[in-house]
Amino acid sequence: MSDSGNRTSHIRLTSHPGTGAPVRFPVTWGKADPRERGPVIGSVTRPGDRNTIGSHGGSYSLYRALAVSSGALNPMQRPDLTNTSPVVQFGPYPQWGEPGKIVSLDPFGHMVAEVYRDLIAEGVDIRPTIAITKARLTVVELQQAIRDKRLKVDGDIVREQGDISVIKAAVDPVWHLPGIAARFDVSEDKLRRTLFEQTGGMYPELVTRPDLEVFLPPIGGQTLYIFGDPAAITDPKRRLTCRVHDECNGSDVFGSDICTCRPYLVHGIEECVKEAQAGGAGLIVYNRKEGRALGEVTKFLVYTPASGRRAATPPPNTSSAPNASPACRMPASSS
Ligand SMILES: [Zn+2]
Repeated sequence: MSDSGNRTSHIRLTSHPGTGAPVRFPVTWGKADPRERGPVIGSVTRPGDRNTIGSHGGSYSLYRALAVSSGALNPMQRPDLTNTSPVVQFGPYPQWGEPGKIVSLDPFGHMVAEVYRDLIAEGVDIRPTIAITKARLTVVELQQAIRDKRLKVDGDIVREQGDISVIKAAVDPVWHLPGIAARFDVSEDKLRRTLFEQTGGMYPELVTRPDLEVFLPPIGGQTLYIFGDPAAITDPKRRLTCRVHDECNGSDVFGSDICTCRPYLVHGIEECVKEAQAGGAGLIVYNRKEGRALGEVTKFLVYTPASGRRAATPPPNTSSAPNASPACRMPASSS
């Protein structure tokens, strides 16, 4: 198969690789050594090298398609990974090689530029699925907490101006389909077929390529905010304060009064900062799945004012995710 380019006149069916030859870079999920595990290759620039279903960027792959279709972006464009190394070294840890332990992300996703340097130099299009950088947070409630003496300025974690030092990591989803199926206690066949059907047949390889076990789903990932020394997270002798928070754009960003997500989030950050100042670490895991994975349209439908008051009970048939609450936690006063 030609790797020469993505010609618009030529449709390349991903379900029919052509030669039937085994993939050039097999993935053996659950190996402790990333070289043994193999790189996750979801690039569309060299289709012959692919060993995954889907493509990089999660839901943003569709925006990329729009940019390519309009001629604004060269489909063969590759990211320049120069100076993109993580600002902090994470791992590897023994758990990364335990089969079944990690099934929805690539634990080596931040290390690919280093681990697969030779393959990338050869022209294999391997992309990071995790990026780690540093930032400072300015949160008005926490500046008030400083004025109220609940938080103290230490010049390191909380700085003079009231901003807070943080390490943040963006994590794209990388699904190991057999592992995901096991988590949901369904057969892999059924999982693949349902994913295929419920996306309107978006990824034929789900049902035609059982040899490809890794899927890059077009969904949001996670953002991690780490406070204090990141080494404390993996040190059992040091304390960790952690909040797992589902994205709630309405409250988290806009301060909408329909739920109490932002106060919970801000309180979580405050506790994380205190733990970091006490020698431990704080961790906010921010899941990019609005309304417990239902999306904002469903969420707003649930909360549409009816008869002069908000619907505290969601209408039936709105819960599409297993064990998911219909939307955010409601404040006590409105339930
Ligand atoms: Zn909310």
